[in-house]
This record gives sequence, C-alpha cells and structure tokens, in this order.
Amino acid sequence: MFPSVSELQALLAEPKQIFITTHHKPDADALGSSLAWATYLKKKGHSVTVVTPSDYPAFLNWMQGNDEVVVYEPRQNDRQVRDLVNRADLLFCLDFNCLGRINELGEYVRRAPGTKVLIDHHQRPENFADVSFSEPTAAATAELIFEIIRDLGDQALIDQGMGEALYAGIMTDTGSFRHPSTSRNVHLIIAELLNAHIDLASVHRRIYDSHSEIRLRFLGYILKDKLVVLREFNTAYIAVTKEELREYESKTGDTEGLVNYALSIEGIVLAAVFIDRSSAVKISFRSVGDFSVADFSRNHFDGGGHHNASGGVSTESLDATVERFVGLLPQYQAQLLGTPAEPVVVAPPVA
Ligand code: 5GP
Ligand code: MN
Repeated sequence: MFPSVSELQALLAEPKQIFITTHHKPDADALGSSLAWATYLKKKGHSVTVVTPSDYPAFLNWMQGNDEVVVYEPRQNDRQVRDLVNRADLLFCLDFNCLGRINELGEYVRRAPGTKVLIDHHQRPENFADVSFSEPTAAATAELIFEIIRDLGDQALIDQGMGEALYAGIMTDTGSFRHPSTSRNVHLIIAELLNAHIDLASVHRRIYDSHSEIRLRFLGYILKDKLVVLREFNTAYIAVTKEELREYESKTGDTEGLVNYALSIEGIVLAAVFIDRSSAVKISFRSVGDFSVADFSRNHFDGGGHHNASGGVSTESLDATVERFVGLLPQYQAQLLGTPAEPVVVAPPVA
C-alpha cells in the first residue's frame, strides 16, 4: 500500500474536475496509464480530460478513450487547454517527473491552482507535486496505476479496455518482459489483468506488427547504412538526418525502437540514437548492465530517465552532437569495456 493512497482516497471522495497529462510524444506506458486512469476516475463519477503535450504514434490509437484525448497544439487550442488546467481541482502527472517534459504545459501546470498528483517511475523527481507516487523500481507507470486502483479497493472496476491499456504500458516498458525491471510483481499483475479478459496477442500485434511498408524499408536502410559500431567502446549508434526522415515519410513513432537494434549486437553495452528533429536533436540512450545512461544523459545531454533507458536533447547540429558524444566515450572506456557483456560460459557436459 502506498503511503499516499489514503490521501488520494480523501481527494477523490467527492466528484472532481480532473486533468490528466503525460510526457511529450507519449509512448504506450504514458498513454495507456493516462487512459486507464481516466476511465477509472470516470467510473467513480469524476469529470476527466486527458491532455497530451504533443501528438503520439498512430499504433496507440486503439486504446479505450483515445477519441476523447485533447492533443495540445499551442496555435490551435491554447485557450481551451489553459482553461482545463486552471479549472481542474486535481491534476495528475503520469509517467514523467519534471515539468520540462511537457513543454509549454509545464508552466501552466506549475501555476495551476488545483492539487497536483505525480504518479511516475523515473529517477530523481522534481519537486512540483502536492502528492507523490514516485517509484523508480516500478517497471512502468501502468504497474503503479494498477496497484493504486487495487489499493483503493477497486480492482473489480478494471475492464478489458483499461486492462489492455495497462498491459500495453507494462509490455513496452519492460521490452516485452525481458528487462531486469520485470519483477514477480509484474507477472502477478499481468495474471490479474488476464482476469479482465485482456487479449495479449492482439495488443502485441497492434503495437509491434502494425508498420507501414515504408517504415520497414526505413528500418532496413538504417540498419544497412547508418549503424555505426565502435568496438573499442562497446558502443553502437545511429544518427538520422532531417532529409532521411523526409525521404522515408517518417511519422511520430517511426523511430521508436531503433535504439534497441543497436543494443542487440552481441557485446554492445551502450547504444544511442540521434534524430534531427526540427526543434532540436532528440537522443535515446540504452545500456546493459552497470553503465547508467540516466546519469550519462543527465550529465551531458540535458536529459534523464532510467538506469538502462534514458533520453536527452541537444541544440547543437546533428554532426556536432554526434561528435561530442563520440568525444565523451574515452572517459567512460574502462566502464564500457568492464561491464560483463560476454555470455556465461557453460562447461560442456561430461561424456
Ligand atoms: P526514449 O528513448 O524511449 O524516448 O526514452 C527513454 C526514457 O528516457 C523514457 O523513460 C523517457 O521518459 C526518458 N526520457 C526521454 N527523453 C528524455 C528527456 O529529454 N529528459 C528526461 N528527463 N527524460 C527523458
Ligand atoms: Mn514509463
């Protein structure tokens, strides 16, 4: 039981106006947690709006409640969103923990008169919330949402749509149940979600097997021509230019997962993907073992995240950003080479 559940119970005792938001370019955990939480709160009689600070991949559009999401667009609905923020009694911030992650919405939320509640699993939360469920050991925010609903005594309200949204969040944040964050608790929660009749195979298909043809050809091109492997640092990286994004008609979500291909090479400890977006270079970092990409990203690329999965930004050019990244590697060489990445050698069976 979270220490703040009783506080939350008190806050939710009367019908409230509720605003839910999540991080820039929401992923399945961000959107799935937000939508499942929104459905739960509606079932409890509250008025709820989910606002995302940007658009999100089309492969998430199937989630229950998706049609009612307000996507913040500064030039189109700034007033409407500001009203929602200011009128809310309660503001839930899900799957992020520093207000910079929600762009312009950050300042609106910071100044909002309502009570702010953080539900998140990233390291080092900024101190902006009145009530906080911050659990960096959790595999996903969706795991926390499940536990909070259960601790509030309402597990029976989790329907198939909510269950599939939560499942999608846990499935993607655990890399389909293979990251070390995939605890016994995670599997027990999935077992509970199965009781809500979630369709596992269908969620996998909707998330992982719904690519356009051109997206697959983009992936082929990137892996063949753009993957750089630096064996002397156990590092692999990919840098994608604006022209390449244009040529392959890249849409939101199309570059998601590229970094995992770089990390899938045997012996690679650190993987990075640099995407030349219009506003800045967006970076994804992944690692295996002891090397903390949360620290690396925080120290050098204005970012953060989890121990083995983080992100950051750079306002330098793509080339300059990559050059700076490669220039940083020698100071980490011992760590990058020292992290055991070799497979465990099993003694041959005695004949
Ligand atoms: P991804 O590479 O999938 O975009 O992000 C990996 C992890 O790092 C996610 O948990 C994400 O929330 C976090 N993250 C991504 N970009 C940033 C960033 O610019 N700043 C911070 N603090 N975290 C980030
Ligand atoms: Mn998450």
